[in-house]
Amino acid sequence: MKNDTHPPPPLPSLGEHYSQLLGLVAPWTIRDVDLDVEKATRDIHVVEEGAITFPCPECGAASKGYDHAPTRRWRHLDTLQFTTEIVARLSRISCAEHGVKTIAVPWAEGSARWTLDKLRNNFLVVFGKNSNCKIKTFL
Ligand SMILES: [Zn+2]
Repeated sequence: MKNDTHPPPPLPSLGEHYSQLLGLVAPWTIRDVDLDVEKATRDIHVVEEGAITFPCPECGAASKGYDHAPTRRWRHLDTLQFTTEIVARLSRISCAEHGVKTIAVPWAEGSARWTLDKLRNNFLVVFGKNSNCKIKTFL
């Protein structure tokens, strides 16, 4: 007979859960997760927290914040039957060499509207995992 004298570990918060699923590390954190059952959508709101400088997306130089770009959305892989998007309002930095630029995010490249995971998934659906094509070529 099993002796269950230890209580189960506490469940992670919803934000911690999605941070783990997305592989987010500081300064990125989940602010909120919205579920709209009627529309079958799930929005994951990501924020930058506590960073004073960000690397310039062009040269990597640590640059101070300038302002914030408008809120953007990135289509991600579905969560069960729910269309899932990452939502964030990104900082813009002022680089001494490149001027004002929107910071890079770990889940997407440049001005892409889909996350890297969604692109990888679409690539595999279209070309199959044995394709000789590289995802970079597909992008
Ligand atoms: Zn730069």
